[in-house]
Amino acid sequence: MNKLGPLASRLFLIALFLFPVSVAGAVEDQALHIKYWLAMSQPNSHLFEVTVEVEVPSDPNLRSLDFQMPKWSPGRYAVFDFAKNVQEVKAREACPAGLDCTMPAAMVTRVDDQTWRVELEQNRHAGMSLMFSYKVFGNDLSGTFSQLNDHHANLNGGSVFMYVVNHKQDRIALSIKAPNGWHIINALTTKKDQTEFEFPNWDLLIDTPTEIAPDWTEDDFKVDGKTYHVVVHSLGSEGGKRPALVRDIEKIVRAETAMWGAPEFDSYTFLLHFANDGHSSDGMEHLTSTQIIEPTALGEATIYAETLDAVAHEFFHLWNVKRLRPIELGPWDFTRPANTRGLWIAEGITNYYGHLMQRRAGLWDDKRLLTTLAEQITEIENAPGSKLMSAEESSLSAPFIDDAPQSQQTNLANASISYYAKGETLGLVLDLLIRGGTNGKAGLDEVMKTMYDELYLKAPNATYYLHGRGYKDEDFTRIVAEVAGSDQGDFFKRYVRGVETPPYERAFAQVGLRFIREARAPVTIGITGDEDEKVNFKIDAVRAGSPAADAGLQPGDVITAIGNAKLTPANFLNLLSRYKPGDRVALSVLRGGHPMMKEVILAAPQLFDYRIEEDPKATPQAKALRTAWLTGK
Ligand SMILES: [Zn+2]
Ligand SMILES: [Zn+2]
Repeated sequence: MNKLGPLASRLFLIALFLFPVSVAGAVEDQALHIKYWLAMSQPNSHLFEVTVEVEVPSDPNLRSLDFQMPKWSPGRYAVFDFAKNVQEVKAREACPAGLDCTMPAAMVTRVDDQTWRVELEQNRHAGMSLMFSYKVFGNDLSGTFSQLNDHHANLNGGSVFMYVVNHKQDRIALSIKAPNGWHIINALTTKKDQTEFEFPNWDLLIDTPTEIAPDWTEDDFKVDGKTYHVVVHSLGSEGGKRPALVRDIEKIVRAETAMWGAPEFDSYTFLLHFANDGHSSDGMEHLTSTQIIEPTALGEATIYAETLDAVAHEFFHLWNVKRLRPIELGPWDFTRPANTRGLWIAEGITNYYGHLMQRRAGLWDDKRLLTTLAEQITEIENAPGSKLMSAEESSLSAPFIDDAPQSQQTNLANASISYYAKGETLGLVLDLLIRGGTNGKAGLDEVMKTMYDELYLKAPNATYYLHGRGYKDEDFTRIVAEVAGSDQGDFFKRYVRGVETPPYERAFAQVGLRFIREARAPVTIGITGDEDEKVNFKIDAVRAGSPAADAGLQPGDVITAIGNAKLTPANFLNLLSRYKPGDRVALSVLRGGHPMMKEVILAAPQLFDYRIEEDPKATPQAKALRTAWLTGK
């Protein structure tokens, strides 16, 4: 038996209290006893074997039970339709206790793309248990999908476990049967080789990723009396770097808890994979754990820093998004994608702090942080979509842009922006403006802490899912105004709901830094080459509103010459630099093998590189504000 922490027990009481009372009498909403059995008898088949055991009340009004696979899972907003990997769905009554028998199959009907319905016997006896079973294929190592192979099982519940419709809020037990010699670990593990787990509800079942393998390692440390487990599954050489990695993770934990205060949990688990397969790469936040997947072995040169970058981001999420959350993010309707305007806060501001915290933790120097922030600004300001899509609209577009599979051509490269980079730049500007405006009395740290305190810790519980309530846009605007000491409505109107360029110069000036913009090239044509083509210059993208777009050039066109000079991917920038804005240039183009000529009128620079530098004239006050910002003290 797994011992549940105080939070879990409290949630269970709330769930018991809320549901029978608020939906008095509706038989389909009375709490059910639900237990999940998970087996993986043939790892190389990549098929997880799931049985959901439901103790069915004898009430004859309950005629059927629906089991549903979610269409997506929290933290990634694209719709993946996990039901597509479900097979061999069956149901039968459990054999009465103490008897060895096989009960006849119950009728299962597929109702729609994600739902299976089991008809219940009308004259069933009290205490009858239904065994609903299926297999689900999983062979992706990611923060969203699941993988079963001969190395391990890595489980993200949303892609494996169906919920009982109308019973997501019911308490759940889980029993896992691992292959011989494999060991199970997740955020609820309290003893070695634990196989039984309990969850206050289905939402928290799928918020608990689980690793099952013969050969993961665990290193622990304590901060503020809380235990942190660093679980590493390495598929490749670690190069002796694991002890240092654990020490650096501890530095991040110390820097982030220094801002927020000690977290409410007793323990937290970092599940790290060094997949060493060249492609698996992800990071996913959970309530008391995170799942981080890197594509190479830990021993490889660049992956160490990338891992810490992911750790700093995902750990910050335990406050921002897992607990302090937009109102639409939990509990969820898994029949349609989540729609929230707040991902620029939930993801973008987390991205900002993920970077800032590596400086506060002493892992980065000032230069490294400023270079990274300038890169985020460069990404946003050079994106053609930044003048078409606002931060809020980007959040609402998450189901299309958050790793969504696209089988249809899209113009998202021209028409969308990332709420990660956009939210990061907005968080940065807001932080520096508040610091300047309050003379260092407050900044974004205080905004986030006030939000957490007021909406998560102190607000009455709005649903069965977690403490407090989710925030609305107005909550964030109001708390920013309270902390800043003045109304910031103009900021939100122009830069969050609008697409105006934020006041970077003014923001950096508050902390004695200069913001410098330099043209990337003397002229603009508005095309990028296909990086896979080494010999011919093949257009990969045409920038909207650019000279190339005006001339009718298209992705897939091969440009063989500019003027009289032969063009290759290697000499593209060099050739262009011979011209000046306003020059007319003849291009020789092959489109679908047919030669044609196009004339472009080169334009003034549209792409810039941005730098953030020390201002030699910075005042002592501005320098003091900068130190407070960079150190968090
Ligand atoms: Zn693993
Ligand atoms: Zn994130």
